[in-house]
Amino acid sequence: MGLMRQVLGESFGLFRQVKLSRPLGMRVRNASLVRSKAFVNGIWKGAASGEEFAVINPADGEAIGSVPNMNENDALEAVGAAYDSFLQWQETTAKERSHHLRKWFDVLQKNQDELAKIITAESGKPLKEAAGEVAYGNSFIEWFSEEARRIHGEVIDSPIKSKEMIFIRRPIGVTALITPWNFPIAMITRKAGAALAAGCTCVVKPAEDTPLTALALAALAEESGLPAGVFNVVTSGRDNAPLIGKSFCESPLVAGISFTGSTEVGKLLYKMCAKGVKRLSLELGGNAPFIVFKNADIGKAVQGAIASKFRNCGQTCVSANRLFVEEEMYDEFAGKFKEAMKAQLILGNGGDGVSTMGPLINDAQTKKVDGIVQDAVKKGARILLGGKKASSVGDRFFEPTLIADVDPRMLCYNEEIFGPIAVLIKFKNEEEVLRLANHTKRGLAGYFFSNDIAQIWRVAKKLEVGMVGINEGIISSAEAAFGGIKESGLGREGSHYGIEEFTYIKYLCFGNL
Ligand code: ADP
Repeated sequence: MGLMRQVLGESFGLFRQVKLSRPLGMRVRNASLVRSKAFVNGIWKGAASGEEFAVINPADGEAIGSVPNMNENDALEAVGAAYDSFLQWQETTAKERSHHLRKWFDVLQKNQDELAKIITAESGKPLKEAAGEVAYGNSFIEWFSEEARRIHGEVIDSPIKSKEMIFIRRPIGVTALITPWNFPIAMITRKAGAALAAGCTCVVKPAEDTPLTALALAALAEESGLPAGVFNVVTSGRDNAPLIGKSFCESPLVAGISFTGSTEVGKLLYKMCAKGVKRLSLELGGNAPFIVFKNADIGKAVQGAIASKFRNCGQTCVSANRLFVEEEMYDEFAGKFKEAMKAQLILGNGGDGVSTMGPLINDAQTKKVDGIVQDAVKKGARILLGGKKASSVGDRFFEPTLIADVDPRMLCYNEEIFGPIAVLIKFKNEEEVLRLANHTKRGLAGYFFSNDIAQIWRVAKKLEVGMVGINEGIISSAEAAFGGIKESGLGREGSHYGIEEFTYIKYLCFGNL
């Protein structure tokens, strides 16, 4: 390990000017996609302070790029540019916006392989998964290019002869989009596609772990001819994120904020948005139950659990967090699930083309996951597989882990694990499992496997979540309404409902007719 890599890997530090040991730009065919400047008003620029921070590959701690560490003043400059652009963008026709999005989609599709490489390099997910995310992420731009044409108002029958009543939909204005690192492209396109289709402009603040994908998106937006100021990307380190978030919440030029990330930060933004009564859309953490009933097809349930639990090394908010298995099937499921984990989960550097599971995103997440496993063991859970850091593979790798006999006293039962840890809980009947599954403040996704049609309908209705996978472990798509209830968030993304977050209804009353 070279000295530079060691220094950057350990400290994830901030530097006035970052020197790179092996820049990503040298490894991606279309080098113009790997940017080191932020994108504001159609111009590639640094932070006013000149500060930069290093982007680290979590698989090996290598610094692969550097981007500006912008602060709240840089962010507000971007908001100003987005506002000026909004004045024109809102006047475009739906058809024009649709065409702009379609052109962006076309260049995104042309650069699928390169985008996947960037995602793998900065997030650690295996290349095949990264390619899947690119297809998924791009599909939001395609979907919203189509939905742009279908944003309709209504004509209402008036109760008074001399009046006519019409509702039209208008874009809310400038939107600030704050996104996480677990899906570096899809979490941006899911918001930005809807915002732009509705006639809003946006300022994206990507996660500090994965800013390069956001900048690649901006490079392709520029290439596709999207007008300057419509899509802006402001990069910042963790140190500046709170003040940037605050400035978004307080700026009179920002009409709405769309955030995906931790419940903790989501609640903070909710509070700060109260002051200006801003539109807010929140996709926060989950604590997904995954229920296997005794009459389920066990093979399908095992495969569903593998997909739901271990995609992106367990770092997804819809990941199966608590696996409830009916007592008649518990031992058989545990055995088959363990065998499937051993056969299918290969830890390694996501870029090697062989591994199916990458590292955790950073040191903090690795420490958290380790603590969750140790807590469960201390409180009496049984480790069936794994259970510790895979230090021989790398500093941020954790063994795929299966824990049995978990109970509600344990952290893994209550917290969103965000790691490759599957926890098994035995239940006696439907009534009990519904009580256990719903006993959480979160309500994002839930899954269950059953072959009893009456039970399927009952459980689907009673699970307190925004999304249900029925005999299915992967439920996301651009066409689907993604979102949660309880403390998992507000609003929906994707589907035609995704547009609603970025429009308001204006009532027009024509009188004296
Ligand atoms: P995680 O813990 O998974 O990183 P976070 O909620 O902390 O999730 O981060 C999600 C996004 O929110 C990132 O872009 C991050 O920079 C940003 N963020 C973190 N803290 C704040 C804050 N106080 N205000 C606004 N954005 C924030």
